[in-house]
Amino acid sequence: MNATEYYRASEQEVMRKLDVTQHGLTDYEVRYRQKRYGYNELKEGKQKNVMQVLIEQFQDFLVIILMVAAIISMFLGDVESSIVILVVIVLNAILGTIQHIRAEKSLNSLKELAAPVSKVLREGQVIEIPSKDVTVGDLLILEAGDFISADGRVIESYRLQINESSLTGESLAIDKMANTIYEPDIALGDQRNMVFSGSFVTSGRGQAIVTSIGMETEIGKIASLLDEAKEKKTPLQVSLDQFGKRLAIGIIILCVIIFGLDIIRGRELVDSFMFAVSLAVAAIPEALSSIVTIVLALGTQHMAKENAIIRKLHAVESLGSVSIICSDKTGTLTQNKMTVQKVYTGEEIFSVDELHLNNQSHKKLLDLAILCNDSVILEDKQFGDPTELALVKLGRDYQLNEHIVRGLHPRVGELPFDSTRKLMSTVNRMGNRSVMITKGAVDVLLPRLNRIESGNGVITKHQLERIKQANQTFSNDGLRVIAIAYKDAFSTHIREEDERDLTFVGLIAMMDPPREESAQAVADCIKAGIKPIMITGDHKITAAAIAKQLGILKEENEAIEGKEIEKLSDEELKNQVEKISVYARVSPEHKIRIVKAWQEKGHVVAMTGDGVNDAPALKQADIGVAMGKTGTEVAKDASSMILTDDNFLTIVKSISNGRSIYANIKNAIQFLLSGNAGAIFVVLYATLFALPVPFLPVHLLFINLLTDSLPAIAIGLEPHNKKLMKEQPRNTDEPLLNKKFVSQVGFEGLIIAAVTIIAFQLGLSSGDTGVATTMAFATLCLSRLFHGFNCRSEESIFKLGIFSNLAVWIAFLIGFILLNFVLITGLFEVAALNQFQYLMIYALSLIPLVLIQVKKLLFRVR
Ligand code: ATP
Repeated sequence: MNATEYYRASEQEVMRKLDVTQHGLTDYEVRYRQKRYGYNELKEGKQKNVMQVLIEQFQDFLVIILMVAAIISMFLGDVESSIVILVVIVLNAILGTIQHIRAEKSLNSLKELAAPVSKVLREGQVIEIPSKDVTVGDLLILEAGDFISADGRVIESYRLQINESSLTGESLAIDKMANTIYEPDIALGDQRNMVFSGSFVTSGRGQAIVTSIGMETEIGKIASLLDEAKEKKTPLQVSLDQFGKRLAIGIIILCVIIFGLDIIRGRELVDSFMFAVSLAVAAIPEALSSIVTIVLALGTQHMAKENAIIRKLHAVESLGSVSIICSDKTGTLTQNKMTVQKVYTGEEIFSVDELHLNNQSHKKLLDLAILCNDSVILEDKQFGDPTELALVKLGRDYQLNEHIVRGLHPRVGELPFDSTRKLMSTVNRMGNRSVMITKGAVDVLLPRLNRIESGNGVITKHQLERIKQANQTFSNDGLRVIAIAYKDAFSTHIREEDERDLTFVGLIAMMDPPREESAQAVADCIKAGIKPIMITGDHKITAAAIAKQLGILKEENEAIEGKEIEKLSDEELKNQVEKISVYARVSPEHKIRIVKAWQEKGHVVAMTGDGVNDAPALKQADIGVAMGKTGTEVAKDASSMILTDDNFLTIVKSISNGRSIYANIKNAIQFLLSGNAGAIFVVLYATLFALPVPFLPVHLLFINLLTDSLPAIAIGLEPHNKKLMKEQPRNTDEPLLNKKFVSQVGFEGLIIAAVTIIAFQLGLSSGDTGVATTMAFATLCLSRLFHGFNCRSEESIFKLGIFSNLAVWIAFLIGFILLNFVLITGLFEVAALNQFQYLMIYALSLIPLVLIQVKKLLFRVR
């Protein structure tokens, strides 16, 4: 059978051809097939290998200039200088390569954590596996929100609808069916019994046998090599690149002037040229954007350990300015562990242990709750939706085993639950009748009732009123209520229009306690200037009761329902949005309007979601947060962050991490720029006062390329500072390099320059220019290393804990040892110093640390 003709074969023919039974493949067969067909992957553009990364380090503009300079100075006889420059360049390239690979590795491991999964039936069991392990002959289990990971022939369809827009461009979902199609040569879009890789299930459920995988799938055939999803630069990186470029132009102009002045003063052309080049290399902060990548990458690794998987790097930056969190209730703020508490049937409220199976309506309520239900308990393991599991457990408490009940009354048709309709229906055989059972939200089901099981048939206004009252009583206690009804069915193919003229049987109310940590997390949010908002499909009163317990809502009028949102125009919603903290009975379409309303008010919004219909709102939000446990693949794909524990607290922790990563990046940049400023000020001073050149080119290169980047990265790893969550969210319009920041950089640069100049002058007073340049170099290098401690935070290191960031110590010690090694061995053209001179270098270098720490302490007191 030709791969393109599976749609013309019957289900049995396909199974025979692919050698698979209804129980799916065995482990052995899977291994054999994976060997034969390979993994289910589309070929990606190759990642660069170590050598390529290393070579790239030499392609930097400044490095090329340096190499040219080294070659020129070699021809002019200064072999030592050129060797030193080359050594420094090579060491720098190795360091750069290590950093690059480290960042790449952590980003890759992150990608693996967020890799797509598929559900397959193997050896009679439904299991979830990484999509790349799906193989030919696997039975794919398809549910709303699943991405389809391979091409397959549909063998079962319950209103299975698939969106194939990625393949055909058609944005409307297509109904899929299991029937054989006999027509030859039909287009993909018309192959209604086939599913294709890259599409997703919008509603319904079904099963398909995988017919082709990887590059053999239809999408594989049309997709040329996928561009290795190159992470675009984050806004911060873009603005730093722009800043870096402007600064570089300024510095190059300055270097040209200094070069000119040197020539006028009769310095040798080559020396002047080498110096100007080195100054440019030392002063241009070319590493800014790569420091951001490294700090972001390492930060995301830490976040993954705290249950938040970042899918888009720029999210880390935006997290710091989130001012609104729109969170689902069920499972995120609550435990999603439902237990039935109360039941209303026969016009009476019963507590869960007061039911009697010999009471006709009690028995019926329990039976129907088990039949219109997809959840099961297998050997203590629970499978399915917690709401439904609560009903299964209720049945078990009364010795009603769901397997037996469902065996007695097999299901012959169904309309799956969806969060917009808030209903689910099944058709079951009961003796020689077919019965349609519908369960769902009370307010949605009530208007569809016309009869009642107890009493004499037709439902009265009074009875409806009593049901509403019972619902109100349950909801006031924060209980989630499900109504159950039925009617005779005349067909197994039911449609939404059939969900009416139902006979009411009862209400079942269940408790889903808030997570223990939620109330504290909400309080932390509010302290951090972030407004938490609850968005739920549940009843308004239930939602408000839980929101009140958690501290999200203070007054009842802060809660509104989805249908009230519908009455508001976008403008009206925007005007009211600040007064609302709970949205109930919301469908996914409302979520997107809520996000937009907040965004128009100038807020940065994080929004949680799990269903397939949540994808647009997740994309619209500044931070789309998908649920790792209960979320669909489509929701995960649309999100910028995934919570592996579905917990609200994790969102708050991530915001806190986002804030501290941003602060760390800012501090690392401050460290780099203030040190560079220091070097420039010293050179300007010497030029202005016609003093000898304070640094040799190799000295500047030594500092800039070898001893600078490690402390910057270490500052980027500064542990989390709790104080950041007592501040207001960062204003997104506020540039990182604001006036305060620039003046701080200038001030610190001046202090570093001052001590370096003192050292230089001391050296000059000894009469030996070599000693003077050595002292200037050593003081600049060491004071910058010490200054690394200053840049850990705006707070003093005594408050932070002197040893609370070991990375900074390690970076300092490496730099310190390298510097002293050079001073002792006389490498890099340094002159020999006496003890007093050594002492002066150490003492002077400590001054910026002491001064700035004192300033921080005083500032805090003030
Ligand atoms: P969120 O996760 O957004 O806080 P939710 O889980 O409470 O919301 P939905 O799952 O959309 O929201 O449920 C909305 C309503 O639909 C519930 O209040 C309940 O009455 C009803 N419902 C929920 N699950 C089912 C189900 N499996 N079958 C029938 N009705 C259900």
